[in-house]
Amino acid sequence: MDGSIPTAEEARERAAAHVDPFREAVLEVAADLEFETFLLGSTRPDFAAGLDREDSVLAAWKRELHMTVGLQLEERWESLGRTVAFDRPEVIFKLDPLSGRVTRQIAPVFVYGRYRKLDRTVPQTHWDCRPCRGTGRELPPKRRGRRHPPRSRTPTPPPDAPICPDCGGTGRRYPDSVEELLAAVIVPALDGTAGTLHGMGREDIDALMLGDGRPFVLEVTDPCRRSIDADAAIAALDAGPAAGRVQLARGPWIGSHRTLRVVKHSSPSKSYLARARVERELRVEDVAAVEALEGQTIEQQTPKRVVHRRADLVRPRVLERVRARLDPDDAGRLELEVRAQSGTYIKEMISGDGGRTTPSVAELLGAPAICEELDVVAIHFDEGGGVPGVDGADARGAARGAG
Ligand SMILES: [Zn+2]
Repeated sequence: MDGSIPTAEEARERAAAHVDPFREAVLEVAADLEFETFLLGSTRPDFAAGLDREDSVLAAWKRELHMTVGLQLEERWESLGRTVAFDRPEVIFKLDPLSGRVTRQIAPVFVYGRYRKLDRTVPQTHWDCRPCRGTGRELPPKRRGRRHPPRSRTPTPPPDAPICPDCGGTGRRYPDSVEELLAAVIVPALDGTAGTLHGMGREDIDALMLGDGRPFVLEVTDPCRRSIDADAAIAALDAGPAAGRVQLARGPWIGSHRTLRVVKHSSPSKSYLARARVERELRVEDVAAVEALEGQTIEQQTPKRVVHRRADLVRPRVLERVRARLDPDDAGRLELEVRAQSGTYIKEMISGDGGRTTPSVAELLGAPAICEELDVVAIHFDEGGGVPGVDGADARGAARGAG
């Protein structure tokens, strides 16, 4: 090759020389993949080093190569129903014409379901051990007047740093999480490499998630499979470390990026069961005093316990339903059923959070009150006619027993 820029006709001829090796290499790297839509791509051929992205000779080269190989592959895969797709292909096969190598980029799979959490020690997602920032090693003390690097950067402890005494070297604040327990089953089922949980909101670590569970999408990275045997996944979850702690109330079903959008952007109201402790003897008339919160809009300033990670604002929140019950055996105990607008802090609705939430149960009763135990009993998100982005009638099927 003389290094000069070819004409469009010459470019097409050069592309033709890549057709057979490209097709064969794609067939090889696609052999273990389940997919229906694909797209072909390529990096620059040697003659195009100095050319503009939009250059017509480069375009002619690409069109010739991609169209020819695309048509041949569609024909070869006809019985599998695989077609070229320009919008969100499931796999992109990319040729490097210089080396002849083909790489694949596999689009993630979005698995939809609803989880129940029956263990008050499991967070929704992994938390790094705070003192060692997830490294498992003791970090050098902070220098005066300086902060550690931003959270996004994991510090590198010195090689001789002792094991972190807070986590025993695991780098974890909690041994597992809903995300990891679900991923441990769903990621291998799809033959992927990692799973990221997107929940429709989150519950506190010490709150149970009951009823029909919380909608979530587990985004599975680099999946070689794009379908899932739901019964097998449920059986695997129930047989592993999640047993009795995290369950699937619905799903797992294969969704799409639309499903993810719905899960991330829906903010349905939620129902809770709360057990409160009040520092005085409760009387029958206190029930009505507390139930007067029903239908009210309370003002919640960001709670003290979360203000380090959320903007310090006052947010109005609607309490759609409030029912109270006295405990016949314990005069300082109150059981509350609350249905509230998304984003309501129930513990602070009870305690008042030092006046940051008003009105509150404590304020109405004129005595300190705390939430001793909190369960989310319903997330009022109705799949009704099916989950957006989830195909098929099974998505409309009944929930598994919530018992
Ligand atoms: Zn640690």
